[in-house]
Amino acid sequence: MPMSKDFRKRLSHVVSKAVEHFGTPFHIYDEKGIRKTGKALKHAFSKIDGFKEFFAVKALPNPRIMSIMKEMGFGFDCSSSPEVLLSRSIKSFGENIMFTSNNTSINEFSTALDDNGCILNLDDISLISKIPKMPELICFRYNPGPRRKGNKIIGNPVESKYGISHEQVLPAYKEALEKGAKRFGMHTMLASNELNHEYMIETTKMILDMVDLVSTELNIKFEFINIGGGLGIPYQPEQPSLNIDLMAKGIEELLNNFKTSKGFVPKLFMESGRYMTGPHGALVTSVINHKNIYRKYVGVDASMSALMRPGMYETYHHIHIHGKDKSLPREKVDVTGSLCENIDKFAIQRDLPETKVNDLLIIHDTGAHGHAMGFNYNGSLRPKELLLREDNSIELIRREESIDDYFATLGFEPDKLMV
Ligand SMILES: *Cc1c(COP(=O)(O)O)cnc(C)c1O
Repeated sequence: MPMSKDFRKRLSHVVSKAVEHFGTPFHIYDEKGIRKTGKALKHAFSKIDGFKEFFAVKALPNPRIMSIMKEMGFGFDCSSSPEVLLSRSIKSFGENIMFTSNNTSINEFSTALDDNGCILNLDDISLISKIPKMPELICFRYNPGPRRKGNKIIGNPVESKYGISHEQVLPAYKEALEKGAKRFGMHTMLASNELNHEYMIETTKMILDMVDLVSTELNIKFEFINIGGGLGIPYQPEQPSLNIDLMAKGIEELLNNFKTSKGFVPKLFMESGRYMTGPHGALVTSVINHKNIYRKYVGVDASMSALMRPGMYETYHHIHIHGKDKSLPREKVDVTGSLCENIDKFAIQRDLPETKVNDLLIIHDTGAHGHAMGFNYNGSLRPKELLLREDNSIELIRREESIDDYFATLGFEPDKLMV
C-alpha cells in the first residue's frame, strides 16, 4: 500500500493550513514515518554485528532530512563532490561517507579524499592508477555480468556501465594491495525498487562468494560488504511490501555460516534511498485548469520538473484528492503539468473523483527520487520542500526556485576568446 495510513491522516489534518501559509506546489516529508522506517531497518538487522545503512543522498539531498538520518546513526552514500560536501555540511565525515561514483573525474576524487576522506568505492580497475593516492581502506564495485539477471529499472548487468567485471576482481584487489591498501570492502548494486527479499539475499550470497575467493587467493580479510540500495516500495495500492525481516534473517544466516567456515565475517553495509524516504513524501499541487478535448485533462500547478518518475519511467504514483476521497461522480482523466512535453503527466487515464479549480491533489510516494530529479526545462522552477515534524509543526526546508535563480548562471563577467 502506498503512503502509510498514518501519514495520510497527519497530512489531511494540516494540509489546508500548509497550503494557506506556504502556497502550492510543494513536497512535504513526514518525520515520524522516516524515523519509524529507520528504526524498523535497524531492528530487522540488529542481530548482524556492525550493520550500517548509508543513506543514498541522491534520493533526497536535503540537509534537514540528512540530519535525521545522521541522528539515527546512518552514514551517507555519495556519488559526486557536491553530495560529499552536502554530507560534510552536516558534519558527517570520514568513514561515514561512502563514495560510489561512475566515470569519475580526478577532481571529484580529490574532493572525496581530502578533509578526512571517505570510504572510496572504485567503479573501475583503471582508476587505481588515477586516484591521487591509494587510501588505506579501499572497496570495489562488482558487476557479475551474465552470472546474474538484473531487474527492470537498473537493467541487465551485462549492459550496465557500473562496476568491475568478474575477471577483473582478483587483479583489482591485488593491485590495490601492492599500492598500499590495507583494509578492504566489496560492493555491488544490481537492483532498483526490488520487492523480492530473495533477490537481495542472493546478492549477498554472490558477494560473499566473491569475498571468499579474493580473501583466499590474496590472503586478505574483508572488513565489509555493501549490498547497495535498491530496496523497493509498493507504489500500487494492492502491491505487497518488501519483507525486510525475512531479508535480514536470510542474510544473517549467510553471514553466520560464512563466519563458521572462514573464521572471519565482514560487516554488512547497505545504501538504501527509496526505502528510507520514498513513502514518507507527497507532492501537494492545486488544480488550476480543466480541459476537455479527445480526453479529459486535469491541469495542476506542478509539472514533471517536480516529479519526473511517471514521465521518465512510466511509473505509477497513487493520487488522492484532499477531502474528496470517496466522492462521486468519478471520471477518467490525465493529470498534467504545464511543460511542452506530452510526457508531462502525473497520471494517465486515471479514475479520480471529479475536481474543481483549487482542489488539492496529493501525489503519493515522492519522498525519494522526486524533488531531487527536478530540472529547469521550459523555464520550470522547482517547488519548495516542507517537513511535517513530529510535533505537527511544519518547517520550510527548501524554498522554491525564483526567477533570480533561473537567471543566476547568466550573470558573469564578459569573456570572449578571439581565435
Ligand atoms: C541510486 C543508488 C542507490 C540508492 O538506490 P535506491 O533505489 O534509492 O535505494 C544506492 N547506491 C548507489 C550506488 C546508487 O547509485
